[in-house]
Amino acid sequence: AENTTKIQFDSLSVNESYARGAAAAFLARYDPTVPQLADIKTAVSEAVTNCIVHAYPDHIGPVAMSIAVYPGREVHITVADKGIGIPDIPQAMEPLFTTGNPEERSGLGFAVMQSFMDKVKVISKPGKGTKVLLIK
Ligand code: ATP
Ligand code: MG
Repeated sequence: AENTTKIQFDSLSVNESYARGAAAAFLARYDPTVPQLADIKTAVSEAVTNCIVHAYPDHIGPVAMSIAVYPGREVHITVADKGIGIPDIPQAMEPLFTTGNPEERSGLGFAVMQSFMDKVKVISKPGKGTKVLLIK
């Protein structure tokens, strides 16, 4: 990669805008178009919100976000937690699937990430954590 960054923060909902803003600030210097930047911010927001909402059901834990810009301006973003993990990844990525409170969650986070990014890859181990890779 030609430039990389990494931040870590607690799984608190106030930190969702911090992560989104940090990603935007890091990438802004590469002259992205407004829609490109908006797409990445939306995907980061969904991935980070998932760590905040789902990863640590009964405590606050760490969330790490890394960004790498490659020659040709391909952008790789990882969002990772050390939380409960996802037992069935294909099922979790199905539109409308949620283990959250159905009054608050619609089960569309992964679908949104997939529609706004070129590639979404999920690695997860129950009890160990989850890492989402977003590529644009
Ligand atoms: P929405 O994003 O629409 O508010 P949601 O978060 O439930 O609802 P998705 O973002 O698509 O929907 O996630 C689907 C499911 O995958 C979640 O309900 C949860 O069970 C699981 N999941 C996603 N991210 C994580 C994570 N970081 N740790 C543990 N489970 C996760
Ligand atoms: Mg979600």
